[in-house]
Amino acid sequence: MSIAVVGSVNMDVVARVPRIPGPGETLLATGSSRGGGGKGANQVVGAARAGGADAAFIGAVGDDPDGRQLRAWLEADGIDVSGLATAAEPSGVALISVDDDAENAIVVVAGANGALTSLNDAQRGIVAAADTVAAQLEVPVELVEAAADARGDGALFVLNAAPSEPLTSPDVAERVLDKVDVLIVNEHELLDIAGVADQSEAVDLLAARVPALVVTLGAVGSIIALGPERAQVPAFPVTPVDTTGAGDTFCGVFAAHLGRGPLDLDALVAAARAGAAASAIAVTRPGAQPAVPTAAEVAALLASP
Ligand code: ADP
Repeated sequence: MSIAVVGSVNMDVVARVPRIPGPGETLLATGSSRGGGGKGANQVVGAARAGGADAAFIGAVGDDPDGRQLRAWLEADGIDVSGLATAAEPSGVALISVDDDAENAIVVVAGANGALTSLNDAQRGIVAAADTVAAQLEVPVELVEAAADARGDGALFVLNAAPSEPLTSPDVAERVLDKVDVLIVNEHELLDIAGVADQSEAVDLLAARVPALVVTLGAVGSIIALGPERAQVPAFPVTPVDTTGAGDTFCGVFAAHLGRGPLDLDALVAAARAGAAASAIAVTRPGAQPAVPTAAEVAALLASP
């Protein structure tokens, strides 16, 4: 089984603050750290640590120390980075504040993540060989479409529509959603893309647009919609310290567990349960990639009474 993730990679610069500062305010942090981030890279780390699937990452970093560090961190997880390009722009950076209630505020400087709008031959080959292709919307939407188009016969295309902004354009939404097998959104992205204010109406609208839909609801868990069928997958109760990357851990582990499907409710629920266990552990630890648990940790939580 193999998974190719096409997306963003950032250096996360995290400051622990007593509270999120307001406009014009200067606050002293109580600590700071740097770690691997970016939705694409977080998700491929989730997939790699889930075990059972060879994981490859396609994206771009800059020709700079952050880029070399980000590449090395992915390699240390056994991820194939032969499709990770070095672009003229600097590596992407995310400036993250996390407060004592695990609330966060994030500014992303995309940098090299905006550089790729198509796949080269080597990258296309990696995507074509994968059983599952996963993408997010933190890179140009043209790259996401190219990834979906390059997938092999029978491979699943899993899109985490985060951020949702590109899909609020009806033309783009129509083009992209036509290629999707499983769409994953959080509650805000759900309402944005559906263009309605009511959650269950939005689920019905999007469930009619894609073969399978997963809506993550933070500490509540997730909803799976497959045509007219619905299932709820509860979150595991934990006390979070940093929810950065919770959704990414969920998506990466979900995609790795789903593999090539089948797209039936049982398979989707099993994959979402694994994603929920992995993300519950991740939110109890600081950082994005450093917080992603191993397969053994996830299996232990899934087996606990
Ligand atoms: P995003 O980070 O994209 O906003 P969510 O906040 O919906 O995504 O979280 C994704 C998944 O992570 C949830 O479905 C849940 O399983 C898990 N999760 C998130 N926050 C918590 C929490 N406080 N406690 C337990 N699990 C959580």
